[in-house]
Amino acid sequence: MNKTISKADEYLIHSYNRFPIVLEKGEGVYLFDDGGKKYLDFASGIGVFALGYGNAKYNEAIKGQIDKLIHTSNLFYNAPAAQGAEKFVKAANMERVFFTNSGTEAIEGAIKIARKYYYQKTGKPEGEIIAMNHSFHGRSMGALSLTGQPKYQKAFGPMVANIKFAEFNDLESVKALINDKTCGIIFETIQGEGGLYPSTKEFAQGVKKLCVDKDILLILDEIQCGMGRTGKMFAYEDYDIEPDVITCAKALGCGIPVGAFAVKNKAVNVIEPGDHGTTYGGNPLIGAAVNAVFDIFEEDKVLDNVQNVGAYLEMKLDELVNKYDFIKERRGKGFMQGLEFDHEVGKYIIKAQELGLIVISAGPNVLRFLPPLVIEKKHVDEMIEIIEKVIS
Ligand code: PLP
Repeated sequence: MNKTISKADEYLIHSYNRFPIVLEKGEGVYLFDDGGKKYLDFASGIGVFALGYGNAKYNEAIKGQIDKLIHTSNLFYNAPAAQGAEKFVKAANMERVFFTNSGTEAIEGAIKIARKYYYQKTGKPEGEIIAMNHSFHGRSMGALSLTGQPKYQKAFGPMVANIKFAEFNDLESVKALINDKTCGIIFETIQGEGGLYPSTKEFAQGVKKLCVDKDILLILDEIQCGMGRTGKMFAYEDYDIEPDVITCAKALGCGIPVGAFAVKNKAVNVIEPGDHGTTYGGNPLIGAAVNAVFDIFEEDKVLDNVQNVGAYLEMKLDELVNKYDFIKERRGKGFMQGLEFDHEVGKYIIKAQELGLIVISAGPNVLRFLPPLVIEKKHVDEMIEIIEKVIS
């Protein structure tokens, strides 16, 4: 057996059923395993590596910062994080941001803001949050408690209290759960893990109105669908709504672990000194990565590419839906796409790997496509050719 696999299986906690592939390097939109086999990457490390592998500007920015200063703690200021914060806040149309080390931690911050908002108003530590069935927000106890998928929660109870679940895209089900204690409503603008379901405009706008009317914070989880994946910097821009809190991660650092929660309007002054913290979060290294990512997005017109090639990807996936009656539908936006089959897709993922393509699933029946945001039409053609071989 491959030495890396046997060593990993011996020493790492078995929290994943990994594919038996050892990835060694990446170039552009291709990955290579330790035997030199090449794979077209349509997963980008679950939506992280937006710029493709080996982007010179990105790599230089990080290498330069490593030589200068990697960590300071949040007892001091550092310029890269301050610049990165400005870029994030302007790109997300928010007012202030807190950098975390992961998406899960960004969700924890959002939960704390909603709870504290209620506490500031009432003096009572009993705010309730409404989340959605089939959502995914992460694996820490707070984020897990918001994740509307019992399979992830059941062995780890009790969950964090005062969290209720509504049906995604069903406004009435949200209304039915609201009471005087409701302090936050959270949903993914496009549900990722739960099967690639975009929120409808009526739902997103309806929830926003409820939040305004009832003085509740609207929290959008854009950890997977944000940072250009849909062709807009943040997916909510297509909905004519403004969140009070937004969470982000994945492509924000393009591989350097960084997440963020950002606030605006009535959520801005909720967190005060002493309320929240992190040792690593917001260090100069993540600052350099975040700065480089936003600069490259602008210089290389990454959003234009997602819009153009994303339209082509949608068209090619729709052709598959029309051609094969066992593919039920395509869902998603831009470079966040899913194909739902009338049967399980696990065997397709393995076969695609054999043929040199990396794709992932979102639930048992959905193939999920999250390519680097820099793929070209020729890569879409290459992917479709392999997928057709796989499914036929
Ligand atoms: N929220 C969403 C929508 C996600 O897709 C994920 C991860 O897949 C998370 C939260 C958790 O992020 P992380 O794995 O960085 O902790």
